[in-house]
Amino acid sequence: MLSFPLSETDPVLHPGPPPKGSDVVIIGGGVIGVATALFLAKRNISVTLVEKGRIAAEQSSRNWGWIRKQGRDADELPIVVEACRLWKQLAEECGEDIGLAQTGVTYLARSEKDLAKFSGFMKIATEHALDTRLLDSSETAKLFTGITQRYAGAMITPSDMRAEPWLAVPALARLAARCGVTIVENCAARALDVSAGRITGVWTEAGRVATSTVLVAGGAWSSLFLRKHGISIPQLSVRATVAATVPLPDIHSGAAADSNVAFRRRQDGGYTLAPGGSSLLYIGPDAFRHATTYLPALMANPLGTRYAPAAPASYPDSWSTPRDWQPDTISPFEKMRVLNPAPEASGLRSIEHNFKALFPQLGSILFKATWAGMIDAMPDVVPIIDRAAAIGGLFVATGMSGHGFGIGPGVGRVVADLIQGNDPGHDLQRFRFSRFSDGSALRLGPAL
Ligand SMILES: Cc1cc2nc3c(=O)[nH]c(=O)nc-3n(C[C@H](O)[C@H](O)[C@H](O)COP(=O)(O)OP(=O)(O)OC[C@H]3O[C@@H](n4cnc5c(N)ncnc54)[C@H](O)[C@@H]3O)c2cc1C
Repeated sequence: MLSFPLSETDPVLHPGPPPKGSDVVIIGGGVIGVATALFLAKRNISVTLVEKGRIAAEQSSRNWGWIRKQGRDADELPIVVEACRLWKQLAEECGEDIGLAQTGVTYLARSEKDLAKFSGFMKIATEHALDTRLLDSSETAKLFTGITQRYAGAMITPSDMRAEPWLAVPALARLAARCGVTIVENCAARALDVSAGRITGVWTEAGRVATSTVLVAGGAWSSLFLRKHGISIPQLSVRATVAATVPLPDIHSGAAADSNVAFRRRQDGGYTLAPGGSSLLYIGPDAFRHATTYLPALMANPLGTRYAPAAPASYPDSWSTPRDWQPDTISPFEKMRVLNPAPEASGLRSIEHNFKALFPQLGSILFKATWAGMIDAMPDVVPIIDRAAAIGGLFVATGMSGHGFGIGPGVGRVVADLIQGNDPGHDLQRFRFSRFSDGSALRLGPAL
């Protein structure tokens, strides 16, 4: 098994070079860019995907590997239902084991009050005929071997899945390459070439690629890239810490979380763990710029975020990160090939303590890897999936808000249709650019 998460010390598997021209250029080799490239290539469209670091080395290999319908925004649900079907199909097509398993997702409630918070999603689940159900205290206890906490109950969706992100997204990229996508790692897109309001090409660090159509799927970097072209999106990123244990006895085969700890069994027999509680927001110019847009989210969960006065150098919203540059000079994207934040020591201690308290029979909890990721977030906790009105030929799929891995193949299929001018098959109104500027009230997605 590969070491995880991926980083810039991993070999370049897709060296390029980029071609002189391509029907579509995709900026960003995370799950969203890769899945979109794959679906376009299957329709015989020439696609070049440029990735400044390595495929999936940012969020798309750093996530927990949950593929969940449970707790989703009602407007995302049809796309994630499709994504679950696509994951199974693509896992077959990849011909590699990506660790896909239908082992369920469970949210644990410590109190009746916590349990009551699930009622909103139960209504949505019923409308969409999901297999989600509430469990009482003793049904919950039976799901986990030797668990010490007596929960008030739980919400479970047995058809939800898991996969190993660091295997799955690179495997999808290899499949895309076999379908004809030109993938170029270590290749930052520096700027769009725009003439008379329409895209004519993309300036990359390896030269210009002529194209009429670009998808920005740059995860935490999308806002920095778009702002250079006069497009402002209220995207911020928060740091989240993760740990992977060595193989342990099987106490639960799926994924579960309470307010203190989240855990998911991996294919190698270890557990991927994360602390409950708050994420860390580094304050920078964008955080100031978009502070008011985030007020509803902050008020709904005032303890959900902690703050640090400045991000490390070269992060997307660092004080010193340039906001403008020329296509023939080094851009901020090359200065940070892979955003690889340090995990938080207190978060790791909390994970170890809380997981051990739940399952004392496991003894000492040894970690084989620890890491963090920057989650790109939107103020209403749902992404932007849209074409940009201001620049002809520009599409954006970003701001997956901490749940883009599971829905990735669904978003990829939808964006491929959007780019081709086809009916995307789902109502994308909720994900439009203009929701932040057209006077409509911000509608918060679920923070479940
Ligand atoms: C700790 C953690 C846990 C999570 N857990 C889950 C989970 O269990 N389930 C779930 O569904 N989701 C989860 N997520 C969220 C999920 O990982 C993300 O929503 C998803 O991976 C986002 O995919 P993406 O393609 O939009 O962005 P990314 O994976 O971040 O990829 C964007 C890529 O674009 C590249 N890029 C940016 N700018 C440029 C440029 N100018 N030129 C070239 N390349 C560029 C970057 O290098 C990066 O590789 C989690 C995230 C984290 C961090």
